[in-house]
Amino acid sequence: MADPPCPPLPRSGAESLAALADRCVQCGLCLPVCPTYATDRIETESPRGRIALAKAWSTGRIAPTAAGDAHLDHCLGCRNCESACPAGVDYGRLLVAARAEQRQRRRPGPTQRALEALSAHPRGLGRLLDAYRRLHPALPASWRVLPRPPRPAPPGRPFDPADDARPRVAVFEGCVARAYEPRVRAALDRLCAAVGVTLVAPTGQTCCGSLHAHAGDTRRAHRLADANRAAFAGHSTVLTLASGCHEAVAAALPEGVGRDAVDFLHAHAGRLRFRPLEARVALHLPCTQRNGSRSGAALRALLGRVPGLDIHPLDAGHGCCGAAGTQMLVDPERAALHRQPLLDALDAIRPDRVLSANIGCRLHLANGTPLPVQHPLELLAGQLQPD
Ligand code: SF4
Ligand code: SF4
Repeated sequence: MADPPCPPLPRSGAESLAALADRCVQCGLCLPVCPTYATDRIETESPRGRIALAKAWSTGRIAPTAAGDAHLDHCLGCRNCESACPAGVDYGRLLVAARAEQRQRRRPGPTQRALEALSAHPRGLGRLLDAYRRLHPALPASWRVLPRPPRPAPPGRPFDPADDARPRVAVFEGCVARAYEPRVRAALDRLCAAVGVTLVAPTGQTCCGSLHAHAGDTRRAHRLADANRAAFAGHSTVLTLASGCHEAVAAALPEGVGRDAVDFLHAHAGRLRFRPLEARVALHLPCTQRNGSRSGAALRALLGRVPGLDIHPLDAGHGCCGAAGTQMLVDPERAALHRQPLLDALDAIRPDRVLSANIGCRLHLANGTPLPVQHPLELLAGQLQPD
């Protein structure tokens, strides 16, 4: 089967990686926006340093070392550098190409391998997370690596006979989000009904493959994209709820089919009426939303339609919470280090709740604060004005 148009990025190889790296003019404008450079203050923990390192490995100019590998491992994949780069360096593609080459000579660790295998099988992952939910209260604190998942599927919106007559849009459920997000999907269902469309969840869909691509396993990422393309065949609109999944899902589907749910609802905002809410919220824009799906402005506009809502940006300079795909589980100390500025900012903002549109960021933030951490669509659906 032919490869999908773009998703999990380039076929690796010295040429493509070197060509990507050659666009870098080494100006250093990306350094101030890089969270790992802010933490470590050394060139090898900066985008420019990683680009030079990856090119030198790829062309055989220097041999890989464990220390060099660690610098590449530490990259959060936030792509702040890409957004700041005046030379158009496609850092996201370069990172995947570099990790794909790295993977050919260095087997991933057991935790990474287990996470990749589980996320590629969402049903099995769901069963495991259900067991984790049951055991969570009895587990020692060090084993509670993720927040407790909610009970499976809360009562959905009652069946409305109008559903059959409305246009249909599909929802992408994801892997870990499938277990953690039943309330978010219920919220999207209510919001879709309010704008006059019916939400459906086709069977056969699987993980988006971002997690695999970003770890250099482009082959498995392409297989997952193939499965999703087949599952969503015939659907003209597929909504994504997690900004971290959006780009991979959109790239796996025909042009224009994959839509960020926030953007989709914003395009229909004229049909949404919200009740007032006197609440103070901290709004986190995930890196994947700022530098990928770019639905931050649409989200602010939607939240701005809720009278009384007091919205405070949660970014602490770089915005990245440190979750970075599997990094929050594979390297929890560094992930916590990157999260700390956001937790400090929460202490200053003192919100009633935190909003973030990416599942990984929400899980990581929720493990560091007692505040409720929600998808923004949960808040919006809760304030919908009855007809
Ligand atoms: S901003 Fe772009 S061109 Fe400048 S050092 Fe960073 S990656 Fe290279
Ligand atoms: S992706 Fe993020 S962490 Fe990685 S080099 Fe770029 S700015 Fe730094």
